Amino acid sequence: MRSPPFRDAVIRPFDPWRSPLCTCPPKYSFQPYTGCSHGCLYCYATSYIGRRASVPKKRVVKRLVRDLSFIDPSLPISMSNSSDPYPPEERFYEVTRRCLEALVSHGARILIVTKGALVSRDVDLLSRGACAVTMTITTMDPGLASRLEPRASSPRERVEALERLSSAGIPVGIRLDPVIPGLNDDRHSIREVLEAASSAGARFVVTSSYKARPDNLKRMIAAFPELERLWIDIYRVRGRWVHGYWYAPAELRKRILRVVIEEARKLGMEYAVCREGFERSSEWYSAPTCDGTHLIPKKGVD
Ligand code: SF4
Repeated sequence: MRSPPFRDAVIRPFDPWRSPLCTCPPKYSFQPYTGCSHGCLYCYATSYIGRRASVPKKRVVKRLVRDLSFIDPSLPISMSNSSDPYPPEERFYEVTRRCLEALVSHGARILIVTKGALVSRDVDLLSRGACAVTMTITTMDPGLASRLEPRASSPRERVEALERLSSAGIPVGIRLDPVIPGLNDDRHSIREVLEAASSAGARFVVTSSYKARPDNLKRMIAAFPELERLWIDIYRVRGRWVHGYWYAPAELRKRILRVVIEEARKLGMEYAVCREGFERSSEWYSAPTCDGTHLIPKKGVD
């Protein structure tokens, strides 16, 4: 894959932390911000980006425009994988918006991945370009969401944003990720998320079980001490260390994610799983891609 030949390149080939279990198709990754203000307890990226508020990268629009001429235009750009492009700060910095303007005029293929309802502010740009949006929604319970993802938009706001985007013709999907044993893995909670997303126009769901890392497990246990024994047993005693993460036993992960897939099927949604290492069969994948890049419409430069 072609990549911009600069040490300070802001567009880079997507590297799923070198996980051999990643099934994402080739794509680029671009994050306008460093750090992430959403402060999700389960965040996988904190060992790379730290627990810091979102700060726009220096001269990011200039660097983005420079990098765009060095990449393969047929490949999608995922925005963002380890630092949300729509943190609360985006309301006044508008840096993601300025980046989107450059990307859309360049004819780039863009997949937005976010927990920020602010994404719907950019409906004008997103509908002009070759863009799709996947919104992470882990629960519809506002109380649980505010403990798990303290500074992200509420689940209701995220669903409303999806509605606005899909009414404007922008393809949308969701990430029901992570599904955490004992917390948001019951059928009722899963169904609530999928029904809300589907009524808002989402036609695709990618799901994944929670993978514990030393730092995120510590935060999760501090917030939910009543689940400490369960998680220690699932992850540290019976789980497996795979490439930097403790994975729950495969049978347990399958049992949990099967519920997501059963409910998605009932609603006629496409589905996929993320970094589970399951067999590539219709049991786990009905969508052409696991990351939602197939949702990006085919449009040229405007
Ligand atoms: S939105 Fe993503 S990057 Fe930001 S804190 Fe949450 S999990 Fe981490």
